[in-house]
Order: sequence, then structure tokens, then C-alpha cells
Amino acid sequence: MSDIRKQLGLRPIVNVSGTMTALGASIVVPDAIAAASAVMPQWVEINDLHRKASAAIAKACGAEAGFVTASASAGITLALAGAMTGADLAKVEQLPDATGMKDEVVVMMGHLTGYGASVEQAIRLAGAKVVAVGNVTDARGYQLAGRITERTAAALYVVSHHTVQYGQIPLDEFARIAHSKGVPVVADLASECDLKGFIAAGADVAIYSAHKFLGGLTAGIVAGRKDLVRATFLQNSGIGRGMKVGKESVVAAIAALEAWANRDHAGIRKTERGYLEMWAQRFAKFPGVDPRIVADPTGNPIDRLELHVDPALARITAWDLADALAAGDPPVIVRDHEAELGFFQLDPCNLHPGEEMVVAARMEAELEAARGRNTPSGRTHAQRKAARFERLLKWPD
Ligand SMILES: *Cc1c(COP(=O)(O)O)cnc(C)c1O
Repeated sequence: MSDIRKQLGLRPIVNVSGTMTALGASIVVPDAIAAASAVMPQWVEINDLHRKASAAIAKACGAEAGFVTASASAGITLALAGAMTGADLAKVEQLPDATGMKDEVVVMMGHLTGYGASVEQAIRLAGAKVVAVGNVTDARGYQLAGRITERTAAALYVVSHHTVQYGQIPLDEFARIAHSKGVPVVADLASECDLKGFIAAGADVAIYSAHKFLGGLTAGIVAGRKDLVRATFLQNSGIGRGMKVGKESVVAAIAALEAWANRDHAGIRKTERGYLEMWAQRFAKFPGVDPRIVADPTGNPIDRLELHVDPALARITAWDLADALAAGDPPVIVRDHEAELGFFQLDPCNLHPGEEMVVAARMEAELEAARGRNTPSGRTHAQRKAARFERLLKWPD
């Protein structure tokens, strides 16, 4: 099959970093591609299509209702807007001016992370004010209770490997406190694959990315209490219009949820485990390279290979190694958001069959080349980061 990336003059990257917007989100599953293709040439009554999606999401998530948004990020903004406006269309049209509405969103400081843009801005985009709870690494129930006032529209809870992983209030306790004050809990679960557990633990609205683990087209899935999901949907007549989702993404989300329910999860996990063990065995032979199989920090059923690199022995830093892999042929993109700490990860969940061997060969070639040099390059992580921003600001050049 011809590779459209070559026709467009794009590099044929191999993705061992995970489901990343910056790399095209995920490999869309065949059922979602087929459903999107089938609906593209047809007219549909879009709100009826959204009714069907609501039923599919409700079933998959153990929720009362569901709504497909343009992305999880849009889902956060629109769900919070819905908590502010309810089903009042005058208020829907008034946003982002929140005069006269409850306009505060409480969120733990350790949850104010980013995913390419910041959670904090997704809140403000609804016209809401961010009210931070606790300290970055320590938040307590009484602090949450103390920040909730008659102006509080919602409490936002974020589950992500990017949040602080300790010292936070567990979801069930967070929800108990919010509910005791009549405040709904909106949970950003964009990268989580447990579709039912967070609602069961107390989230009133659960937000997922359709294009991450599920392998749908780019979209967000909002599941939860019917009144809140309805209020989220009604933002289509307001601030949601600029974040609208097309029919193709809605049918693909329905198909992806169905495919997810029928997927051979155990078989896939076994295959991925084989990749990790093969890589670990091959890379451990290099001095200064310590491969460790690690579990996902938020409990997703996926393990990754974490490669700790000692520059004194390997003669290359973790970030130089990541960049060398990304610059080579074919380019291999690793999970390197913690590279300044001296390690990066290989995520096995987005590989086409055979690419695991390409990754192994490219890694061995780069480690071999490093061994042939006397010392690491001396380029600091700060210099690398600065160079990346410089390139971003030169776009489209
Ligand atoms: C990816 C991610 C998002 C953004 O999801 P999109 O669907 O790409 O908008 C938001 N929150 C978290 C925790 C994420 O991991």
C-alpha cells in the first residue's frame, strides 16, 4: 500500500511514544474508518445522530447519557459551561460573559497540568474562574470544602500521568465533599481506558478522548448525568459552535466504542509484553543502559519499557539519544517528557506489526554509535528545550 506521508513529503515516523496529538493521535481502528467513510457521502439529521451516540456512550460508560465533542479539551470547556448555564439557552448565548451565573471551578493545584495546552485555559474558555485547591503536592478535603462557595459551578478532577501522582484527594473523597455541597464533579479522563470506574467512583461527568486508546477519529466523549450532558450538548448553540464535531467523528466514536468492547485486550497485552521483553534483553547489553519494564502510572492496562541512560557510561544523554532516534531513518519517536531526569520510555501500543524490530535495530545502531564516541555532546536539556520552542515559533518555515 502506498504511504500517503511520502506523497505529502512527510517523514515516515515510527511512534513508540504513545497516543499523541502531535503525532496524529492514534492508529484509527478499521471499524471507525469504515463507519466514517460510510457516512461521509450521506445526509444525516445531526441531532438524531447525537441521540444514537448518547445511547452508545451511556451503554459503554454505565452513564445516563453521552455527547461527542470535537476533543476531550472541548469536552472540558463545554461540560463546565453546561454546569454554569444548565438548560437555559439565554445563558448559553451569553457565555463567555458569565455575569449572573455561578462562575467558579474548583480544581486541585496538582491537577493544573497541560496536554499541549493547559487545563487552566480550558476552564477559562468557558467564562469560568479557576479556584485552585491546596498546594501542588498536598491537597486535603477541608481545603476543597473551604474553597466551595455559592459561586462554585463545578469541581474538576484530572486523571493523567502529567498530574502530581501523590498528595492528591482520591476521586471518591473529592466527589463526596463536592456532592455534600451540591457541586457536580467533572472528570478529565482523556487518556484513561477505564470507561466505567470513574463514574462509579463519583464523577458526574466523565470525559474521554475518542482518538487515544479507543482509536476513533479525533473527538471527545462526554458521559454522565443526563441533565449535565444535555447542558453540554446545548452549548452547540453557543461557545460550542466553534468546537463542532462532524458526522464522521460521531459515527467513528460509536464504532470505536463497539470495537473496544470486542477487542482481544489480553492477546494484545501479551504481544506488547513480548516487545518489551525483547527490547529489554537487547538493550541491557549496552554499558550505562538500564531497561526497566514499568506499569502505567494511572493504572491503564499497559506497561512500557523505561530506558535509564547513564551518560558517563553510555556516552550519550537520554535526550540526545531520543533526538538521535527521532532524526534517523526511519525516525523513531520515543516517550521523552521526562528525559531531563535521565530516562525515556518506549510505549508499545501504537506499533504496526514489524515496527518493534525497527525500533530495536535503530536503538542498537544509536547506542553503538554513541559507544564509538569519547564523551557525550555537552548539550544541556535546557538548550534542547529552547531549540524546540525556537522551531515552533518559526512555523510554517
Ligand atoms: C490528551 C489529553 C487531553 C486532551 O485531549 P484531546 O481529546 O486531544 O483534546 C486532556 N486531558 C488529558 C489528561 C489528556 O491526556
